[in-house]
This record gives sequence, C-alpha cells and structure tokens, in this order.
Amino acid sequence: MRSGDGQTAVREFTITVIAPVNGPALSIRTSLLPPALAGSSYSPALATSGGNGSQVTWTMLGGALPPGIALGTGGLLSGVPTAAGTYSFTVRAANSGQSDQKAFTIRVVPDDLSRFNITRVDVATVSSAISPHVQAAIAGWESAIRGDLVHEEIPSGFFSPTFCDGFGDVVNGTWVDDVIIMVNIASIDGRGKILGQAAPCGISDNALTVVGTLTLDADDLQPLVGTQTLTDIIFHEIGHVLGFGTLWSAGATDLVTGEGTSDPRFTGPQALREWQALGGIGSVPLENTGGSGTADAHWREATFRTEIMTGFVSPVGTPNPFGRITIAAMADLGYVVDYDAADSYALPGGAALQAPPADPLGWDVADPNPIVMLMPDGTARLIPR
Ligand SMILES: [Zn+2]
Repeated sequence: MRSGDGQTAVREFTITVIAPVNGPALSIRTSLLPPALAGSSYSPALATSGGNGSQVTWTMLGGALPPGIALGTGGLLSGVPTAAGTYSFTVRAANSGQSDQKAFTIRVVPDDLSRFNITRVDVATVSSAISPHVQAAIAGWESAIRGDLVHEEIPSGFFSPTFCDGFGDVVNGTWVDDVIIMVNIASIDGRGKILGQAAPCGISDNALTVVGTLTLDADDLQPLVGTQTLTDIIFHEIGHVLGFGTLWSAGATDLVTGEGTSDPRFTGPQALREWQALGGIGSVPLENTGGSGTADAHWREATFRTEIMTGFVSPVGTPNPFGRITIAAMADLGYVVDYDAADSYALPGGAALQAPPADPLGWDVADPNPIVMLMPDGTARLIPR
C-alpha cells in the first residue's frame, strides 16, 4: 500500500475459508427397497436428504446385491434379478466431505403365473407373534382367488412418497405378481373402536389391486395375539386391499346403489345369486351405519351378523365365517375365484331387523386414501371415488 508521501506499509491478513456450517447432514432417506420379481426388471432409486449440495456418489460397502442387479454411482439400482432369495448389503452415499451408510435387504420373489400371489412388505416391525396371523390371512385369500394372473410394472418414481399412506416410495421401480400389500402397525385411535384400516392405492387398468396398504392399530393387537379373531381382522383388511368396499365405485366399476342413504345395496350379479341362495330378496344389503369407511363398504351387520366382511368384528370366541357371498363379490369385481375356500355360512334366522351388537369388539375403516390406475404406458391416472 502506498500513501501520497511515498511511504510503504505492509501487513499480512489471513482469510480462512470454512465449509457451510450446520446444514442438515447428508443422510440416506430411502428406508426400504421393494421386493423384486425374478426375471423382470428392477429399477428403484436410492435417495438422500440433506448434504451440502455437492454431487452424491453411491458405492457398495459390503454384502451382496441379487445376481443381475447393479448399483449405479447415482444411486439407481438396476438390472434383471435372476435368482429368488433374500439379499442383504450395505451402501455408502458420499459427497465432498460428508457420508452416510445404510443396510438394505432385497427379496427376490419367484415369478409364478400359476396362481394368485400376494407379496407382503412389512413397512413397520411385525413381531414374530403377529406375523403368523398375517401369513394365515394372506394364505386364505390366495386360496379364494385363483386368477387375475398378471404382471404389472410400477415404474421408478411412479408413486409420490406421500401416496400409499406415506409408503409410495417403497414400491417404486419393480414388477408385481399379482399384488403387493404393505403391512403397517401404528396407533390409530387407542384401545377399541377402529382396529385397522386398509385400501388399494394402485390398481391395474382392469381396475384390480396392484398395491395396497393395511394398517393395524398397535393399541388393539396385544390382547388378540393367538386368537382366530386377529387372523380374521387381518383377513378382513386384506379384503379391502383387494377391493371389497374400496373399488366398488372406482373408475368404471359401479356395484352399489343408494350410497349414503339408509338402504345402500350391492348389485353385483354373482353376489346377488349367493344372496338369493341364502334366502335374501332384492339386492344385497350394505352397512348403513358407522359413517364413512364403514357404511356402504361392508355387508350390513344387522342382516349378516358374523360374516367376516360386515363392518363390526364379533367378540373373541365367535367365528367370523368367510361366506360364499364375499367370494362372489370379489368375482363381481373381476377376480377368478374358488368357492371351495368358503366357510359354511347361513343368514341368522329372522335376524333381518336386528340392530348391530351393542358392544362389538370394534370396527375398521375402508381407507379413503386416493387410488391411481397404472396405465399400460407407465403413466398414472387418479381414480375418482
Ligand atoms: Zn372393513
């Protein structure tokens, strides 16, 4: 620096460049990866949150990906898995100066077009005490439905994360044979009242379920462990995932008259046949109490009482039979069914005018969450309901 009179002064300064402080740390946001279907493409994307904005690079830290699948440096898993099995591995996401790592498991399920398959994805911890109830309920539906043997692709990024009860990300980038059910356990409304809720969130272009969610009320489960009633409740919820009461008025399907009135009725011809075989007259009475999610979406409790798809669960110790009429309602939606899976069931004698039980164990909600149709070109169409 030079002043006007020719003198000179020198001083040293130091500038320290520091990294941007206290931004959110880089973190792997993906919680679960979808099941893969052997022989079909797989393309879910791993994602991060936070970080300092610099490029994130993904690498394998340990374990093994399914044969046929590779991890791209951008976080996209891709390829065609060749062998069924369960594969666990750990990945690392790093940018300049930050990193995170996480363990994942990919289950590769065999391709099986010989039968109707439900693939279960637990999005919460399902204890070893509750898990057999879920499996038994799934097996029950897999024996009652024999057809709709399709493959559907859920493209990478198809569902927004808020879809499917907040688990939309979990099923993006895979193929489905025939249905994926995400099982969640969470507090809904404390002890009693609502025991569970369920619905499809993605359907095929023939309006049958591809993906759905089932939430059990954590506060109600413990006393029911080991009872047939718990299996029945889960079975009932899976019925809603597959479309019972949830796809009756979706898209072009129209199987209900008198919605919102004191006398809603199911009009599907196959259920009508079974109703008349039971001695019923006219079309099939649907629940007219209990509000949204119960009314119009179940068989009428006052008429059908213990049947498994009424809106009120019988007390522990009372069977909830799976009637032919429920299987027929699934046939009316378009499923190929097997009536041999039905339990013996008769309308309670003279019960047509009885009120619902004063103290049912509880009920459930056919979840009103939005549903999208997976169009053949990979686009989504929101289904008016
Ligand atoms: Zn229900």
